Amino acid sequence: MPERIVTCRVLSGRGNQCTGEAVDPDADLKICARHLGEAQRLIHAAFQRAQRTGQA
Ligand SMILES: [Zn+2]
Repeated sequence: MPERIVTCRVLSGRGNQCTGEAVDPDADLKICARHLGEAQRLIHAAFQRAQRTGQA
């Protein structure tokens, strides 16, 4: 079975696809470690915003 490299599906600002290697080639979400880290930061920030607005 040939080794397949699955690349990250995230697009950069200019529409170029990220060339990073997906963390899990079999997962529905094809994303590299760098963008996975960015996604975690986004989720964390979104939760904090939701908590602040929820307490208003
Ligand atoms: Zn990426």
